Amino acid sequence: MKYRRILLKLSGEALMGNQGNGIDPEVVNLIANQVKEIRELGVEVSLVIGGGNIFRGVAGATKGMDRVTGDHMGMLATMINALALQDALEQKGLHARVLSGIEMPKVAESYIRRRAMRHLEKGRVVIFGAGTGNPYFSTDTAAALRANEINAEVVMKATNVDGIYDSDPRKNPEAVRYETVSFQEVLEKDLKVMDAAAIALCRENKLPILVFNMVEPGNLLAAVQGKAVGTLVN
Ligand code: UDP
Repeated sequence: MKYRRILLKLSGEALMGNQGNGIDPEVVNLIANQVKEIRELGVEVSLVIGGGNIFRGVAGATKGMDRVTGDHMGMLATMINALALQDALEQKGLHARVLSGIEMPKVAESYIRRRAMRHLEKGRVVIFGAGTGNPYFSTDTAAALRANEINAEVVMKATNVDGIYDSDPRKNPEAVRYETVSFQEVLEKDLKVMDAAAIALCRENKLPILVFNMVEPGNLLAAVQGKAVGTLVN
């Protein structure tokens, strides 16, 4: 195992499959299977899940909604996804806990760093819901923040492309995938990895980011084993 404690970042859109919105139970099930595979090998797994399949604050704001209210809605959307994931993991016999960045004690535990780390030590999968708990941030930034707080060894950003390319591989057939790339290059070349706040947090604290394709079954396991999947930013 290359990594013993990871933070896996999934976008909300990853949960909707081909449906166009909402949550596809089959996709959630496939994700849970991959998490189970690495959990059984002893990897401590934490997750941050986005909310873009349900609501994004910016989208509301462009249609005239108050931005902060929109972001609150976006964070609540991530909680819906987090609960779906928790359910799927538990159905597979794993122990999972949603920790929310916004207090909602009837639904989930509140995020407390030491509690999160304790859950991980006990072998529970921790799902960080409600982003950072603050408007104007993204769940990418929440992923970078929580990963640093809990001393994760890597942020694994699951996407539907198999890494970072020098240009968009869907538009340019000549596009070349990087195996590794430095934070400096990501900033200089404006490569699309995570938003600037997330990159800054990881760079400052020397936390590597692995961008990889989780649609491919077995890829999460390969990534944790340190096999050549995706692109490593370090
Ligand atoms: N959000 C927020 N603060 C955070 C994280 C998320 O306000 O710390 C809100 C924001 O409106 C965002 C939405 O939650 O658009 C959903 O998160 P995100 O867009 O990052 O989801 P993803 O693109 O990963 O599905």
